Amino acid sequence: MSNPALLIDQFGRAISYLRLSVTDRCDLRCTYCMAERMQFLPRADLLTLEEIARIGRQLVGRGVRKIRISGGEPLVRKDIMHLFDELGALLCNGLDELTLTSNGTLLTTYAAPLYAAGVRRINISLDALDADKFKQITRRGDLDKVLAGIDAAQDAGLKIKINTVALKHQNADEIPDMIAWAHGRGFDMTLIEVMPMGDAGEDRIDQYVPLPMIRDQLETQWTLEDAADTRANLGPARFVRIRETGGKLGFITPLTNNFCAGCNRVRITCTGRLYMCLGQEDHVDLRGLVRANGADETALNAAFDQALATKPERHDFAIKDRGQAPTLTRHMSVTGG
Ligand code: SAM
Ligand code: SF4
Repeated sequence: MSNPALLIDQFGRAISYLRLSVTDRCDLRCTYCMAERMQFLPRADLLTLEEIARIGRQLVGRGVRKIRISGGEPLVRKDIMHLFDELGALLCNGLDELTLTSNGTLLTTYAAPLYAAGVRRINISLDALDADKFKQITRRGDLDKVLAGIDAAQDAGLKIKINTVALKHQNADEIPDMIAWAHGRGFDMTLIEVMPMGDAGEDRIDQYVPLPMIRDQLETQWTLEDAADTRANLGPARFVRIRETGGKLGFITPLTNNFCAGCNRVRITCTGRLYMCLGQEDHVDLRGLVRANGADETALNAAFDQALATKPERHDFAIKDRGQAPTLTRHMSVTGG
């Protein structure tokens, strides 16, 4: 490779984690993520699976050790297993982990092939265990289908982490029950503060609940001990172990407590924009480059370096007032959560 230098930013953070959005489309319409009548991007705007694999391969050559496939719902993308197979071939050849975040609706079909491609862990998003509430939050989802997907993932041998966005009026009261359920099934769980990304059709102030408040509530019934696993605590989540359930619980708190100092990740949107920070607008367009005649490794490496120079120290998400415009106009589904 012409420029094999590791990607280290101006704050000394080494980039070892890539999140790739493979589609902005989804079979659900979660109230905090998308508008009900979501206008999806024209398919021609999306990187092809070959283009995604090429960029992924080259970033592994620059020190990326972990790739998470996301979206939208990654499993609705046609022929998605080609990409998992391509990237899976990099495991033990520079790449340490290939994983995904999924809403679980299609896992009865995909769990076993994912395992066969080398995936060992998966994050599954689940914001309610009550079927009506689940339908309300996702605007269309069938809880049984997701629970069957979770069973299939477990049967296939995938280690599962449940992601739950804390929502003031929709699930805040149910969170202790969800933790007890997840830990009872042997799953770790992460709670996430809602981020003001894109218009999702509701005022963010009606959704946002600060996680320190939830943590205080949990501490009235359980003993939360800082998790000894310091590796897990290097990312944007802070983990505790709940003594009574024995399970791990993470808190992702982009609004109340910013952990950008340890950020080791970059993101590529489904349209090929390389964002160095989820919460900022600076990006470099890789699609133009990979589609340009004669685009080569050197040009891509130069684009990675250019992007790296713009990696900001931190993001500035805020939800303060009713009617406030989102911090960012782009939706999480385009960037890949
Ligand atoms: N469709 C898949 C899923 O839901 O797991 C993957 C994509 S989704 C955009 C990735 C993660 O982002 C999910 O855990 C979801 O709950 C979270 N998410 C989406 N919009 C969000 C927002 N505005 N604030 C916080 N988390 C959000
Ligand atoms: Fe779809 Fe995931 Fe967004 Fe929900 S959070 S609408 S499942 S992309």
